[in-house]
Amino acid sequence: MARSPSLPDRPRLDLDPDMSDEERLAALRDHYEEVLEIHDELSEQLKEARDRRRQLRQEVDRLERENETLKTTSLYVATVEELGDDGVVVKQHGNNQEVLTEVTAKMEEKLEAGDRVAVNDSFSIQRLLDRETDARAQAMQIDESPDVEYADIGGLDEQITEVRETVEQPLENPDQFREVGIDPPSGVLLHGPPGTGKTMLAKAVANETDATFIKMAGSELVQKFIGEGAKLVRDLFQVATEHQPSIIFIDEIDAIASKRTESKTSGDAEVQRTMMQLLSEMDGFEDRGEIRIVAATNRFDMLDRAILRPGRFDRLIEVPKPDLEGRKRIFEIHTRDMNVSDDVDFDHLSRETEGFSGAELESLATESGMFAIRDDRTQVRSADFEDAMDKLEADDTGDIVPSAGFY
Ligand code: ATP
Repeated sequence: MARSPSLPDRPRLDLDPDMSDEERLAALRDHYEEVLEIHDELSEQLKEARDRRRQLRQEVDRLERENETLKTTSLYVATVEELGDDGVVVKQHGNNQEVLTEVTAKMEEKLEAGDRVAVNDSFSIQRLLDRETDARAQAMQIDESPDVEYADIGGLDEQITEVRETVEQPLENPDQFREVGIDPPSGVLLHGPPGTGKTMLAKAVANETDATFIKMAGSELVQKFIGEGAKLVRDLFQVATEHQPSIIFIDEIDAIASKRTESKTSGDAEVQRTMMQLLSEMDGFEDRGEIRIVAATNRFDMLDRAILRPGRFDRLIEVPKPDLEGRKRIFEIHTRDMNVSDDVDFDHLSRETEGFSGAELESLATESGMFAIRDDRTQVRSADFEDAMDKLEADDTGDIVPSAGFY
């Protein structure tokens, strides 16, 4: 914050009663000069203070305006369904309530069916929103060339072979399947605990086949883009077609494809619609060309069997937590660029980390590096791994069950 400038010292005039008139006059002149100087200095300070006051007033006005904007009530998002003589039918996102509302002639000129609009409490259209591109860009992660390679994935050799057969070969060699007379699997479902490398597998296959990797998270579709799930699924396939060859990766597919529940809330209906859209996109999928679909879930038990029917996710690949050899390989992968001292015994560490996922092993390696840095060293020692292990245990991630008596 700006401080007030310090005031100059007040000039003093000490007149000696024994002074002659000339001396007195000279002293008065000096004093007058001094007073003038101080006056100029104070005038300058006053001007600066006025400028500052003007700036602060502007700032206050701006903040007041901002405050007003924040206090105004939020608007709801809706889609224009129909434009007719009686008015405009809009459907509110979230609850799917359809309402007939009137709009000004000027607004009507701008509107088309399918537009997204912002409506107030009484459903009057306040604003036309940008086209879906926003939601599309937010909901999908598009990576033209993911940088994961098969060699970066530890302990999943069998799974890599399966993914190569079911996803890579149909993309690279579609004629072979045609000649043999079989349809390649439409979709591949990777299932297994969190952090075991499912996303990595999908990225690696995209990298290997020079395909665009397009990821969408099922949970976001139903939680963040309420009312737009089905549309975004349609968009997802559209984007994949535009970018082919491409790999569609649907993470957490259980969020949109879990077993039907008894309840009939609008949320469930919405999830159902999103899933139906996904199934219909997959069913009409054959002639779409060079697109493969990979989905992943940590909750295989929850899945609606409808999505596992032939022609849909008909290849299931289990991605388990790594075994001893897998853990060794994952340690190798995640410490290959680290400056690790010879006293670190990875065989021992691999034995003692039973139950760890790949992601947990990676964070163990990173944490141990952090301990070395904290100690102002550039080399990571066995003790750092011990400390990292203690820290991960203390963090209580729930998933990690370190073997007893590790240290
Ligand atoms: P989730 O189910 O939580 O989405 P996921 O199975 O898709 O998890 P990934 O996102 O592929 O897991 O893995 C997270 C990170 O953990 C990776 O970026 C990688 O660094 C590390 N990791 C996981 N599994 C392996 C593995 N088998 N080999 C090497 N690194 C791995």
